[in-house]
Amino acid sequence: MSPNEATQAIVIGLVSGLVFGIIGAAVGSNRGAGFTGFIVGFLFGPIGLLIMLMIGLGKKCPFCRKKIHHQAIACPHCQRNLLPVQA
Ligand SMILES: [Zn+2]
Repeated sequence: MSPNEATQAIVIGLVSGLVFGIIGAAVGSNRGAGFTGFIVGFLFGPIGLLIMLMIGLGKKCPFCRKKIHHQAIACPHCQRNLLPVQA
């Protein structure tokens, strides 16, 4: 591989990483995790996006075990308060 080809490969890698990173950020921002989405997309590309969609980047309600937004302060399914107990 000539230096030119190597440079080209790096540029293509960076550009596709950025593209997937931006897609990941868009997917993640729906779930309040835009930056995490960007990193996952940048590092793992389409596979990372797929995994992220499958995991959903959400959390589960500790009471009813349904998936909820990770910043939710109350479960929309069972209406329980999810705020950590203040000391
Ligand atoms: Zn619940």
